[in-house]
Amino acid sequence: MPAQTIPARKRVALVAHDHKKAELLDWASANRDALARHELYGTGTTGRLVEDRLGQPVGKLMSGPLGGDQQLGAMIAEGRVDVLIFFWDPLEAQPHDPDVKALLRLAVLWNIPCASNWASADHLFSSPLIGAEYTRTVPLPADATAWPRK
Ligand code: PGA
Repeated sequence: MPAQTIPARKRVALVAHDHKKAELLDWASANRDALARHELYGTGTTGRLVEDRLGQPVGKLMSGPLGGDQQLGAMIAEGRVDVLIFFWDPLEAQPHDPDVKALLRLAVLWNIPCASNWASADHLFSSPLIGAEYTRTVPLPADATAWPRK
């Protein structure tokens, strides 16, 4: 099985649906010091809000419903995102549900750590592995995931 190494300083993607944004921002504030040790990315609105709240730069993609979820999925497949914190809303249907599903599917397929609520994000971030290199199995070797393909 091919493997890829997740670096100690991780590229962490943060996403929250509208009714979960306040909760994700509170979680990010509570974990400000831990997040400062990593590189942050986010869908458009979530990314801007996290950057404002933490005062830490966040690489911002498009807003989720406009393509940001798909951008993140592509980054995961290309090995450019190491951790996904996605507070999705279990109580409201989303117009971009196929994109949400696709993002979660790729996170599982590419075997990256992901958390979808406060407790799982706490467990993920309190693991010793969050600050260490970690080798994970992946569906394709690294030279097959670079874009553009040679
Ligand atoms: P947003 O997107 O951060 O741009 O609101 C999140 C989402 O709904 O996927």
